[in-house]
Amino acid sequence: MPKIIMKTPLVEMDGDEMTRILWQMIKDTLLLPYIDLKTEYYDLGLKHRDETDDDVTVKSAEATKKYGVAVKCATITPNVQRMSEYSLKEMWKSPNGTIRAILDGTVFRAPILVKGVSPTVRTWKKPITIARHAYGDVYKNTEMLIPSAGKAELVFTAEDGTKTTKLIHEFKGPGVIQGMHNLDSSIASFARACFSFALDSRQTIWFGAKDTISKTYDGRFKAIFEEIFESEYRSAFEKAGIEYNYTLIDDAVARVIRSEGGFIWACKNYDGDVMSDMVATAFGSLSMMTSVLVSPDGKYEYEAAHGTVTRHYYRYLKGEKPVANPMATIFAWTGALKKRGELDGIQELSDFADRLEKACIDTIESGTMTKDLAAMYEGEAKTVGTQDFLDAIASRL
Ligand code: NAP
Ligand code: MG
Repeated sequence: MPKIIMKTPLVEMDGDEMTRILWQMIKDTLLLPYIDLKTEYYDLGLKHRDETDDDVTVKSAEATKKYGVAVKCATITPNVQRMSEYSLKEMWKSPNGTIRAILDGTVFRAPILVKGVSPTVRTWKKPITIARHAYGDVYKNTEMLIPSAGKAELVFTAEDGTKTTKLIHEFKGPGVIQGMHNLDSSIASFARACFSFALDSRQTIWFGAKDTISKTYDGRFKAIFEEIFESEYRSAFEKAGIEYNYTLIDDAVARVIRSEGGFIWACKNYDGDVMSDMVATAFGSLSMMTSVLVSPDGKYEYEAAHGTVTRHYYRYLKGEKPVANPMATIFAWTGALKKRGELDGIQELSDFADRLEKACIDTIESGTMTKDLAAMYEGEAKTVGTQDFLDAIASRL
């Protein structure tokens, strides 16, 4: 069979630990035999990030801006323990944070559904995609302990020196205060990324905030979403037969629980943090969650939502064969290949990605899977290691 030819390279961001091993196994078993794979390779493994003073991360993000589509392996975010484990020069920042800042993107997370692993919520039949705003609010806050009675105020000093002051509270005794912010530009980017992704995936989108209580702050989010929707997206949404709905966050939660799924749920930063874990857990497993970073100007970076699966890696180093679930990493590749095929007009490439996804799902639904899924599977499962699982997918493919 002749290999599928690509036009534009994918930006390939390699990573760390167990997922770095999976990365190579996936390429060898499921991609290289079928595709004349064109990638521009960036090694985001921690060792190489350290050698390049993390410049490789910045370069890979810039390449994503240039080419439009990237696929990323999970990477270690260094902490104190990693500093000594890898003898790092510095505690480098999270690569995902760096890439997100450069692409000004929004992260969309969606589960891969298979029959036999039922969501905890009985009514859910289709994936629920969570879009989390990744800037500001409580994640960039300033807090203060109030030791005693006194007056707390919010003060804004304009560039010309004019002050605007608002009373927060007249304290009669000790307490706490907190200041936080967001930016019109960041909220607008978030809104555009959400609307573009909704159009792209032909799914209705819900946005929930608390503008009845937070009339100015959350009200600003609501207003910017509305303004951008009306002026830039309404007619395209109508043509695509999808909707944009705003509702209060507590009403959004209730709607999500009684829904069938199959829509996007746009969340403010904190709501997205909390709700993405709730939705992921209720759908089954972290090893079945995919993630894509979308910039407001339509650049895509696909990855698995899970990390580098460290504990498995340490066992692998001791000589055990890999047993981690490669599904989310495979779907990162298929997502990227599909998008590349779409942008370059290579139908064969998009079709291949669809067939590969189907082969993965069929393999699991016929009972062959890794042990993390077998533990939740409702039928008779044949538990296999990573390589045997990939081989089973390849033979179906
Ligand atoms: P993790 O790598 O997602 O793993 C947490 C646990 O979930 C694993 O120990 C494993 O459970 C299970 N698991 C996750 N993915 C799995 C898979 N594909 N197959 C089977 N089991 C899977 O999270 P972590 O342990 O908190 O973080 C490890 C490293 O990853 C850290 O250095 C962190 O910085 C990094 N990280 C990177 C990203 C990213 O690049 N996007 C995201 C999160 C974390 P059992 O051990 O019980 O089998
Ligand atoms: Mg969280």
